[in-house]
Amino acid sequence: MYLLGRLPTLRFMVPIALLLSCALCCHLAAQSCGSQGIALQVLGSGGPELQDKRASSSYLVWENGQARVLVDAGGGSALRFGESGATMSQLDVILFSHFHVDHSGDFVALIKSSWFEDRNRPLPIYGPPGNDFMPSTTEFVSELFGDHGAYRYLSELLVPGEGGTYLMQPHNVVAESTPITAFHSGDLTASAVRVIHGGVPALAWRVEIGGKSIVFSGDTNGDGSGLVRLATNADLFVAHNAVPEGATGVERKLHMPPSVIGQIAADAHVKNLVLSHRMLRTLGKEDQTQAEIRKHYSGPLTFANDLDCFPVK
Ligand SMILES: [Zn+2]
Repeated sequence: MYLLGRLPTLRFMVPIALLLSCALCCHLAAQSCGSQGIALQVLGSGGPELQDKRASSSYLVWENGQARVLVDAGGGSALRFGESGATMSQLDVILFSHFHVDHSGDFVALIKSSWFEDRNRPLPIYGPPGNDFMPSTTEFVSELFGDHGAYRYLSELLVPGEGGTYLMQPHNVVAESTPITAFHSGDLTASAVRVIHGGVPALAWRVEIGGKSIVFSGDTNGDGSGLVRLATNADLFVAHNAVPEGATGVERKLHMPPSVIGQIAADAHVKNLVLSHRMLRTLGKEDQTQAEIRKHYSGPLTFANDLDCFPVK
């Protein structure tokens, strides 16, 4: 009787409920990314500038509700990781493209969060080698979490014998333009090529999982043949839209303009193109960007936003 008596009130509440469900729809959709099959989730679609109101570069590869691969961990991505519903215990591997801050700045926040989980298997971490200018992957991790690292209070997660619940296992991947397999476990394989990103050692990654393939350009100016070889016939190609057409100087030395993205996507015959690493200098120029890409590539193309989910069919 009490419930029946409240029915008129509930009837008037329906529009409010609809409004609320619309407001929540994307968030809820994000939390179910990859619940069936393979999906890519964009954790961070922005570049280094905070005013783009996007997390910096970071991606999750989901398989049947498990977040299996994390690619890069730029600033803001740790929060997006939590919002995605993923846990650090689910990850099979972390892959780094390079160690610019906007690709690695939230790594420590993710590792700290994992300390509160009960992960009990090693966490492999793969990334580029170093040079005079940048640390290698093993140096990057040990300079943060080693016995003399900035966060040495968490060294039990890196130094054997200190009794942590699990150990990080960092590896340097020395690759050239021929793809090499860095990691393999079950139906999951990660391979890499070296890409040109100014003087910064950098990798592009290909993740093969459940019979699907997702390729991440990372940051690169597009020079060389490695990225096309790595991306050949990929189901999904994530390319970084960091500079507009006509960019020159340092910007062009570091990043590929839309015409180069389109040429690589076409030469590699990728089946789907996602544009990320969107910066203040490319945001608002989507029509121009798309027009340049369309001169070369005619397949599906999407400009990514944080937490967007791309099922790979
Ligand atoms: Zn970079």
